[in-house]
Amino acid sequence: MYPQSTWFDTVDALTDAVADSLGTMRVIDAGIAAGAAIDGYCVHCERVCLLQVNGGALFGEDVNLREGLVCQSCGLNSRSRQLYLAARRAFPHGSRLALLEAFSPLARYAEAAWPGIQLSEFHDSSARSGQTYEFPDNEGGHRRAFHQDMQRMSFADQSLDGILHNDVLEHVPDALAGLQECHRVLVDGGTSLFTMPWFPWLPSTLVRGRLDEQGALLELLPTELHGDGLRPEGIYTFYNFGADFADLLGRAGFSKIAFGCCYDPFAGFVTNNYRYGDDFLMLPTVIRATKAA
Ligand SMILES: [Zn+2]
Repeated sequence: MYPQSTWFDTVDALTDAVADSLGTMRVIDAGIAAGAAIDGYCVHCERVCLLQVNGGALFGEDVNLREGLVCQSCGLNSRSRQLYLAARRAFPHGSRLALLEAFSPLARYAEAAWPGIQLSEFHDSSARSGQTYEFPDNEGGHRRAFHQDMQRMSFADQSLDGILHNDVLEHVPDALAGLQECHRVLVDGGTSLFTMPWFPWLPSTLVRGRLDEQGALLELLPTELHGDGLRPEGIYTFYNFGADFADLLGRAGFSKIAFGCCYDPFAGFVTNNYRYGDDFLMLPTVIRATKAA
């Protein structure tokens, strides 16, 4: 099925498989990044669309292609289309799902694909999971959504077939607690599918900051903020996940872990275009963690 993803059980298997192709990928991706847009196949629109190269995230002057290659018909960027595609292949219509976002184009399309999917946003640390709150919109007004804190979700044990999150985990103060919660709410055999900034050539995860017992932020490395539709100042990043990430999923209880790589420039699935060494180079991957049946 186009585009073809390959799933790897270990990070080493993934990095071994792409080792001989990395130089070619860098040349192709630099060529894409040099232009304003490409014609490419959108896996959501299911046709050739204009993909705008710059999605607003940069490394210096280089475009971060993972946040870019935005389909001008549906608004999904590269990583959101990758997650959408993996989820469409994993979960039939009628699956009981949750997605930890509510206002994005991906949330709208997920609702169309899986009616009843539980959409939520993170409001603040004093909010109660499962309650609705007001969030600012882009026009100076408000919109409402359920709040879910990944570390303390309101979903019942074993109540979901799947849980989806799209670049959320690096912003969760206790990532292990967040993953343990995902494991708790899944049925036996259920699957968590997600993306996050994940660096397969970074030997071990960088913890940039943590919360002390009073909830105050202790910064261990310089502040890294990510763009966020709800917070103009950006959102704090606790982790840069490295090659050891599978260990964390195992500690959270997941029995089967796989990394799905789909390098396909025509689908707009490429590296992040990071040109300053391998440590922060990212591949077009979706992570799949399955609870024992
Ligand atoms: Zn599209």
